[in-house]
Amino acid sequence: MILLAAIASSRQRIMSACDDLKARYPLLTRRAIVAGVPIPAPIQWIDRNFFKGQLNAYAMCLNHWLPFLPVPVILINAGWLDDHSQLKDRYLNDVSISYHPDCGCPIKYIICHEFAHFIYVNMSAKSRRQWEQGYEHAQPSGYSFNPEESFCEAFAGHVAGLTGKYYDEAPRFAADYGQE
Ligand SMILES: [Zn+2]
Repeated sequence: MILLAAIASSRQRIMSACDDLKARYPLLTRRAIVAGVPIPAPIQWIDRNFFKGQLNAYAMCLNHWLPFLPVPVILINAGWLDDHSQLKDRYLNDVSISYHPDCGCPIKYIICHEFAHFIYVNMSAKSRRQWEQGYEHAQPSGYSFNPEESFCEAFAGHVAGLTGKYYDEAPRFAADYGQE
Protein backbone atom coordinates (compact mmCIF):
# COMPACT_ATOMS: atom_id res chain seq x y z
CA MET A 1 0.00 0.00 0.00
CA ILE A 2 1.31 3.41 -0.93
CA LEU A 3 0.47 6.19 1.47
CA LEU A 4 0.88 9.71 0.10
CA ALA A 5 1.04 13.05 1.83
CA ALA A 6 -0.34 12.29 5.26
CA ILE A 7 1.03 14.31 8.16
CA ALA A 8 3.63 12.45 10.22
CA SER A 9 1.43 11.85 13.28
CA SER A 10 -1.36 10.39 11.13
CA ARG A 11 0.93 8.34 8.96
CA GLN A 12 1.69 5.82 11.69
CA ARG A 13 -1.98 5.70 12.73
CA ILE A 14 -3.09 4.98 9.18
CA MET A 15 -0.45 2.31 8.63
CA SER A 16 -1.23 0.45 11.86
CA ALA A 17 -4.99 0.83 11.33
CA CYS A 18 -4.48 -1.10 8.08
CA ASP A 19 -2.66 -4.07 9.67
CA ASP A 20 -5.70 -6.35 10.00
CA LEU A 21 -6.94 -5.47 6.55
CA LYS A 22 -3.53 -6.06 4.93
CA ALA A 23 -3.12 -9.41 6.66
CA ARG A 24 -6.56 -10.67 5.66
CA TYR A 25 -6.96 -9.07 2.23
CA PRO A 26 -3.43 -8.83 0.78
CA LEU A 27 -4.62 -8.69 -2.82
CA LEU A 28 -6.87 -5.76 -2.03
CA THR A 29 -4.27 -3.61 -0.30
CA ARG A 30 -1.03 -4.45 -2.11
CA ARG A 31 -1.30 -1.97 -4.98
CA ALA A 32 -3.60 0.53 -3.30
CA ILE A 33 -2.96 4.26 -3.16
CA VAL A 34 -4.09 6.14 -0.05
CA ALA A 35 -3.63 9.89 0.17
CA GLY A 36 -4.37 12.54 2.77
CA VAL A 37 -5.90 15.45 0.85
CA PRO A 38 -6.44 18.94 2.29
CA ILE A 39 -9.81 20.51 1.40
CA PRO A 40 -9.15 24.00 -0.05
CA ALA A 41 -10.29 26.89 2.18
CA PRO A 42 -12.93 28.25 -0.30
CA ILE A 43 -14.63 24.86 -0.42
CA GLN A 44 -14.60 24.65 3.39
CA TRP A 45 -16.20 28.11 3.51
CA ILE A 46 -18.94 27.15 1.04
CA ASP A 47 -19.54 23.95 3.00
CA ARG A 48 -19.83 25.76 6.37
CA ASN A 49 -22.15 28.45 5.01
CA PHE A 50 -24.36 26.56 2.58
CA PHE A 51 -24.17 22.88 3.45
CA LYS A 52 -23.91 22.95 7.28
CA GLY A 53 -20.61 21.08 7.03
CA GLN A 54 -22.24 18.14 5.30
CA LEU A 55 -19.57 18.00 2.61
CA ASN A 56 -16.86 17.60 5.24
CA ALA A 57 -16.78 13.83 4.76
CA TYR A 58 -14.12 11.61 6.30
CA ALA A 59 -12.89 10.27 2.99
CA MET A 60 -13.82 9.06 -0.46
CA CYS A 61 -12.93 6.16 -2.71
CA LEU A 62 -12.20 7.37 -6.24
CA ASN A 63 -13.15 3.96 -7.66
CA HIS A 64 -16.79 4.70 -6.84
CA TRP A 65 -16.71 7.56 -9.39
CA LEU A 66 -14.12 6.02 -11.73
CA PRO A 67 -14.84 2.28 -11.63
CA PHE A 68 -12.34 1.53 -14.42
CA LEU A 69 -9.34 2.42 -12.20
CA PRO A 70 -7.34 -0.80 -11.77
CA VAL A 71 -6.23 -0.23 -8.16
CA PRO A 72 -7.98 1.15 -5.06
CA VAL A 73 -7.46 4.92 -4.73
CA ILE A 74 -8.59 6.35 -1.40
CA LEU A 75 -8.54 10.02 -0.48
CA ILE A 76 -8.79 10.91 3.20
CA ASN A 77 -9.85 14.41 4.23
CA ALA A 78 -6.63 15.73 5.79
CA GLY A 79 -8.65 18.02 8.07
CA TRP A 80 -9.74 14.97 10.05
CA LEU A 81 -6.24 13.53 10.15
CA ASP A 82 -4.83 16.78 11.57
CA ASP A 83 -7.01 16.57 14.65
CA HIS A 84 -7.34 13.03 15.89
CA SER A 85 -9.35 13.93 19.01
CA GLN A 86 -11.96 15.74 16.91
CA LEU A 87 -12.14 12.74 14.59
CA LYS A 88 -12.50 10.36 17.53
CA ASP A 89 -15.26 12.47 19.12
CA ARG A 90 -17.25 12.64 15.90
CA TYR A 91 -16.81 8.94 15.21
CA LEU A 92 -17.78 7.94 18.77
CA ASN A 93 -20.88 10.08 18.42
CA ASP A 94 -21.69 8.38 15.09
CA VAL A 95 -21.25 4.98 16.75
CA SER A 96 -23.44 5.97 19.72
CA ILE A 97 -26.37 6.68 17.39
CA SER A 98 -25.63 3.55 15.28
CA TYR A 99 -24.80 5.72 12.29
CA HIS A 100 -21.56 3.77 11.79
CA PRO A 101 -20.42 0.36 13.11
CA ASP A 102 -18.08 0.36 16.11
CA CYS A 103 -14.74 -0.65 14.61
CA GLY A 104 -12.80 0.49 17.69
CA CYS A 105 -10.79 3.09 15.77
CA PRO A 106 -12.06 5.78 13.39
CA ILE A 107 -9.19 5.45 10.93
CA LYS A 108 -9.61 1.69 10.78
CA TYR A 109 -13.30 2.20 10.08
CA ILE A 110 -12.65 4.81 7.39
CA ILE A 111 -9.97 2.77 5.61
CA CYS A 112 -11.99 -0.47 5.58
CA HIS A 113 -15.18 1.30 4.49
CA GLU A 114 -13.39 2.99 1.57
CA PHE A 115 -11.60 -0.19 0.45
CA ALA A 116 -15.00 -1.86 0.37
CA HIS A 117 -16.13 0.56 -2.34
CA PHE A 118 -13.38 -0.86 -4.55
CA ILE A 119 -14.62 -4.38 -3.84
CA TYR A 120 -18.21 -3.39 -4.56
CA VAL A 121 -17.57 -1.77 -7.93
CA ASN A 122 -15.40 -4.70 -9.00
CA MET A 123 -17.57 -7.61 -7.87
CA SER A 124 -19.50 -9.59 -10.49
CA ALA A 125 -22.94 -8.35 -11.52
CA LYS A 126 -24.35 -11.56 -10.05
CA SER A 127 -22.76 -10.93 -6.65
CA ARG A 128 -23.91 -7.33 -6.66
CA ARG A 129 -27.48 -8.42 -7.40
CA GLN A 130 -27.28 -10.88 -4.54
CA TRP A 131 -26.14 -8.20 -2.12
CA GLU A 132 -28.84 -5.83 -3.39
CA GLN A 133 -31.52 -8.46 -2.88
CA GLY A 134 -30.52 -8.83 0.77
CA TYR A 135 -30.30 -5.07 1.32
CA GLU A 136 -32.49 -3.43 3.92
CA HIS A 137 -32.54 0.32 4.42
CA ALA A 138 -30.30 1.49 7.31
CA GLN A 139 -28.80 -1.97 7.86
CA PRO A 140 -26.29 -2.68 9.33
CA SER A 141 -25.94 1.05 10.20
CA GLY A 142 -27.76 4.33 9.73
CA TYR A 143 -25.32 5.33 7.01
CA SER A 144 -26.38 2.31 4.90
CA PHE A 145 -28.65 4.43 2.73
CA ASN A 146 -28.11 2.31 -0.36
CA PRO A 147 -26.79 -1.22 -1.08
CA GLU A 148 -23.24 -0.05 -1.82
CA GLU A 149 -22.90 1.93 1.42
CA SER A 150 -24.50 -0.94 3.30
CA PHE A 151 -21.84 -3.29 1.93
CA CYS A 152 -19.04 -0.88 2.91
CA GLU A 153 -20.40 -0.57 6.45
CA ALA A 154 -20.76 -4.35 6.70
CA PHE A 155 -17.24 -4.97 5.39
CA ALA A 156 -15.69 -2.46 7.83
CA GLY A 157 -17.53 -4.10 10.73
CA HIS A 158 -16.49 -7.55 9.54
CA VAL A 159 -12.78 -6.62 9.43
CA ALA A 160 -13.14 -5.19 12.96
CA GLY A 161 -14.56 -8.52 14.15
CA LEU A 162 -18.23 -7.58 14.49
CA THR A 163 -20.72 -10.37 14.01
CA GLY A 164 -24.33 -10.38 12.82
CA LYS A 165 -26.23 -10.97 9.61
CA TYR A 166 -24.55 -8.33 7.41
CA TYR A 167 -21.08 -8.53 8.99
CA ASP A 168 -21.04 -12.31 8.50
CA GLU A 169 -22.19 -12.04 4.88
CA ALA A 170 -19.66 -9.42 3.72
CA PRO A 171 -16.53 -11.64 3.60
CA ARG A 172 -18.13 -13.98 1.07
CA PHE A 173 -18.37 -11.06 -1.35
CA ALA A 174 -14.78 -9.98 -0.62
CA ALA A 175 -13.29 -13.49 -0.87
CA ASP A 176 -11.47 -12.76 -4.15
CA TYR A 177 -9.13 -10.40 -2.29
CA GLY A 178 -8.36 -12.71 0.63
CA GLN A 179 -5.50 -15.02 1.53
CA GLU A 180 -3.18 -15.91 -1.31
ZN1 LIG B 1 -18.98 5.05 1.40
